[in-house]
Amino acid sequence: MKQLLESSLKSAVLYGQHYLANGKVASYIPELAKADPHQLGLCLITKEKEIYHAGDWLVPFTMQSISKTFSLIAALQTSGYQKVFSKVGMEPTGDGFDSIVQLETKQLIPFNPMINAGAIVTVSCIDSKDPVKEFLDLVHKLCANNEIKINEATYLSEKKAGMRNRSIAYLLESDHILEGDPEIILDHYFKMCSVSVTTKDLAHYAWVLANDGLDPTTGERLIEGWIVRIVKTLMMTCGMYDESGEFAVKAGIPSKSGVGGGIVSVAPNGIGIAAFGPALNKKGNSVGGTHMIEYLSKELNLHYFANQSDITA
Ligand code: GLN
Repeated sequence: MKQLLESSLKSAVLYGQHYLANGKVASYIPELAKADPHQLGLCLITKEKEIYHAGDWLVPFTMQSISKTFSLIAALQTSGYQKVFSKVGMEPTGDGFDSIVQLETKQLIPFNPMINAGAIVTVSCIDSKDPVKEFLDLVHKLCANNEIKINEATYLSEKKAGMRNRSIAYLLESDHILEGDPEIILDHYFKMCSVSVTTKDLAHYAWVLANDGLDPTTGERLIEGWIVRIVKTLMMTCGMYDESGEFAVKAGIPSKSGVGGGIVSVAPNGIGIAAFGPALNKKGNSVGGTHMIEYLSKELNLHYFANQSDITA
């Protein structure tokens, strides 16, 4: 098994490299345009907490939209199910992650917490004197790394360039969905998106989710089971934006991406995976990352809906 995992991760990185020419780093946040599009990294943690890695696994990057899963957990923990889902829905949009159109034409509340509009609302639902601290404490705990912090340059860059997110927040405020000052909520959102992590940190987070919120090595409960179920379901249906359906068919693992190039994937059998590759496809997902996860899904039989007859491992 050890050899299979080591060689699969190495081959996945080589496989991902074939697709890098099809991608581009995000440039709408100027600080992200400085990333090296050739980087690719992977980390996988087994149920028994064995860590496997390949490529640029320890290169730091900002979580960007992966923060949406942490802010959803913090919102559910502090405000509860009823309050959060009275302000944000549970349906995929089929539109881009920063789209504004359905807020005008379909329904006032954002479709789901995994797109920008939905995340701005969930951030506003974190009921705490200091929502950013609440968020960072959660990240430290679930990634098992107290050193994780905000990348100031990216935060300032996002804050300056974030006019589209501002438009979303003010539209939500005009419809009385956002409680509180939109500028403050946006500031919190930009800070959360700018938290710097590595694939090692995110693989640990995925490992906690993959084990239903428990640390299987100690039996300690880190997140309540009902929250893990919601987060994993929304990752599967909405986590890859308007590529969620295709990714579910091809990889079949609940995952969440960010425009910093990260993908966190909650695999079956207690396995947590994180991928990194800043070159993005047209939907804003890591082009190398999506292919590496698809490769691992096939190689290690990690598709949630795999036929039993396909499973040879
Ligand atoms: N901070 C980014 C934004 O608000 C996050 C988007 C993403 O990762 N898809 O646009």
